[in-house]
Amino acid sequence: MKLKEVYKEYLRELSDNKFQKTKRKNEEGREVLTNHRGISGITPQQKSFCYTPVAKTFEKAYFTDIDDNQYVDIAMGFGVHLFGHRPSWIQEELQKQQESWGLGPMTPQMFEVAEGIQSLTGVERLSFFNTGTEAVMVAMRLARAYTKKNKVVMFKSAYHGHHEASLVFKTDPMSGVPMALIPGITDNAQADTILLEFDDEASIIYIQEHAAEIAAVLTEPVQSRNPGCQPQAFLKQLRKVTEECKIALIFDEVITGFRIHPGGAQAYFGIEADIVTYGKVIGGGMPIGIVAGKSVYLDMIDGGQWKYDDQSLPEKRKTFIAGTFCHHPMSIAASYAVVQKLQIEGEELIEALNNKTTAFAKRVNRWMSQHQIPIHVHQFCSLFKFDVPSIAKVWYHHLMIEGIYVWEGKTCFLSTAHTDEDISFIEKTIYKTALLMKSCGCFTTKKHELSADELDVSLASACQFDLTLNIACNIGACLKIEENLNDERLSIAINHVYLHLPFVTGSVMLQNQTSPKTVLDIEKWKESFMQQDILHLGCIVEVVKTNQGHTYMAIAGHKTRMDGWSLSLVISHILSVYEALSTANGLPDITFQTGKLKTANSHATNLQVSDASKTSFSIDHTYVDLKRKARGINKNSQPIDMVKAIFVLAIQRYIKDEIITVGTPVAGQLKASAFEHIGPYSHVEVSQYLGFCIEDLPTCMATERKVTELMPRYVVNIDRWMNTYSPFTMEPIPLDAPYIRYDIVLNLMIHEDSIGVDIKWRKEKYAPEKIEEMVQYIKQQLTSEYAYLQG
Ligand code: PLP
Repeated sequence: MKLKEVYKEYLRELSDNKFQKTKRKNEEGREVLTNHRGISGITPQQKSFCYTPVAKTFEKAYFTDIDDNQYVDIAMGFGVHLFGHRPSWIQEELQKQQESWGLGPMTPQMFEVAEGIQSLTGVERLSFFNTGTEAVMVAMRLARAYTKKNKVVMFKSAYHGHHEASLVFKTDPMSGVPMALIPGITDNAQADTILLEFDDEASIIYIQEHAAEIAAVLTEPVQSRNPGCQPQAFLKQLRKVTEECKIALIFDEVITGFRIHPGGAQAYFGIEADIVTYGKVIGGGMPIGIVAGKSVYLDMIDGGQWKYDDQSLPEKRKTFIAGTFCHHPMSIAASYAVVQKLQIEGEELIEALNNKTTAFAKRVNRWMSQHQIPIHVHQFCSLFKFDVPSIAKVWYHHLMIEGIYVWEGKTCFLSTAHTDEDISFIEKTIYKTALLMKSCGCFTTKKHELSADELDVSLASACQFDLTLNIACNIGACLKIEENLNDERLSIAINHVYLHLPFVTGSVMLQNQTSPKTVLDIEKWKESFMQQDILHLGCIVEVVKTNQGHTYMAIAGHKTRMDGWSLSLVISHILSVYEALSTANGLPDITFQTGKLKTANSHATNLQVSDASKTSFSIDHTYVDLKRKARGINKNSQPIDMVKAIFVLAIQRYIKDEIITVGTPVAGQLKASAFEHIGPYSHVEVSQYLGFCIEDLPTCMATERKVTELMPRYVVNIDRWMNTYSPFTMEPIPLDAPYIRYDIVLNLMIHEDSIGVDIKWRKEKYAPEKIEEMVQYIKQQLTSEYAYLQG
């Protein structure tokens, strides 16, 4: 058994012993009780980790379960218990209220709670509900009613509760229409929801352009699923655009409210939203949801202000809002205690707690990076999340076994009840667990090599459902040929090679026109060429001519069947068949290899037909080596390591990510010395760098860790133009898929003693000026590292 499996087995045994009664209760109870918790990510291997603790007692930062296990709680009621479990001053208010209570009338405390919240947050009016979900639902209704528009913008990765319109996880890639991915929610329920990227300039532009139909922009100021992203500038842009376009800005502060600051994210970021929703903390442990904000919106609930002793009436336009349990007296009582507490000592308490959590996260991150363990804590105020590669479920479960409770949604919280000893216990447990997992090989990365057989049945089937992905999987190469070709010969050569491709069955004549069509706009032609659905064909080739007498030959393959190496191979065969036909040698035999590759021990640099632009640098290797030595950079590091580090430095400087995930494509054919193999053998090796630790090249290279099964955000590739036998003068020119699968792709083409630099990026994400600056920086770094211009 592999070490990892031994470790899982060990955990399973521990878990079965430690949680015997809990698991039995979960299992037996299931007959009647249907519980949505404890089943996320269930697999046959991991189902012994799937249960919900059954608790007996709660106190401060702890609870105990029916197996008499003690936990330090870092789920803290999904973020509710900012002051720990059952603080005495909340208990007292609850006990007072419990002596006599009922539903229907209001309680005197309701007014005080409302005024208290107003003084803490600056909202003009507010109304009480039972949950965050309900509050968000009402906020959307108010926004629509007031603006008389229908659409509500939300952002990817956000969570706004589980009502129909907010459970949007995906948009249809072609139509952009939000898709309901959950059984029971119809597409119609989400037809008025628009899902955009968070912290993205393109979203602001979209909102501007579609303002006429957008009632509200609903956002968590900082997403609880992504606490590392705290986009003040984006939020300010949102405020500006919504104000200008008469769109309601809704801050969903169910998590951030009363946590980042007594005035919530509005106070912290200095931004006033139109409507704000609160929940969790402000209820002191009792169910609550609050809709608050500007009077013009809140007046939609009751028609606005009026008095008894004059002619006034609630004259504003109203919508319908109701709820049997809204402003439940027990919730109001607990909330009263919280508001009092916040008014008296909120600022100090919250600041101290936030600082404590920041220090905790920094310590953990430093420790993890010192021990080269790929776990990272992302944190905002007292909220934090672990970023754990691939084996996350085991990590959380191990923490449970060690006595730290993390709920399955994995947002974690410290509270004012967590003592320094508790935090120290959490840290020690985290370190112990991480070391144990490391020693069991849980974080070691094996290179993930795809064989042709493995490949990508899954990618291919995903492509059938997702046209954008499908087209993004097109890879292309194009040659501009200067000479006047014999069209008929070229056509025969293309067909001959095409028919020998291992995946082509039957005798499809691919390219049989004897005179290629003439195109006026070569860029447009290239674009539409790459837009084709070639999943089933696997490969297409086309030749066109321009009015200037140039011939272009473009080839595109689908990633599920071919890689860059294969494209190169096809081109070189076409050229040699053409040549053979010219010399009247007849049609040569072609044998492409396919099937599984055995990895040989050769060092690979990816050789592909490249589309690099023509910026060049000369390289002085002696100088490079000396410089590396002087700067403490490992002499054994490969050029690609250096190039990756330069790329990462540039990303850190111009884009900034706490963790920078970079992929480098590697041609499998080279590794296996299987040069005639056609197939999808290239794979992307992925590394992560800790952005926040990076200062220069050596620190950057020191933080690199290889990771598997992660999709990189950025890709850097070194190409060498294959020394193809060429019967005519030609040059490779760029041919890109219309979509890129990564945020930024940097391609460097090494040609003799120079480097071509070519960069592609998601246009909707980054402004061209930013990328231009980044490219300049990369060139500068390459120049300095490669000693060009050293005078
Ligand atoms: N909004 C945000 C930002 C949340 O985090 C949540 C719950 O976690 C909700 C809304 C829904 O709140 P509730 O679970 O009280 O319905």
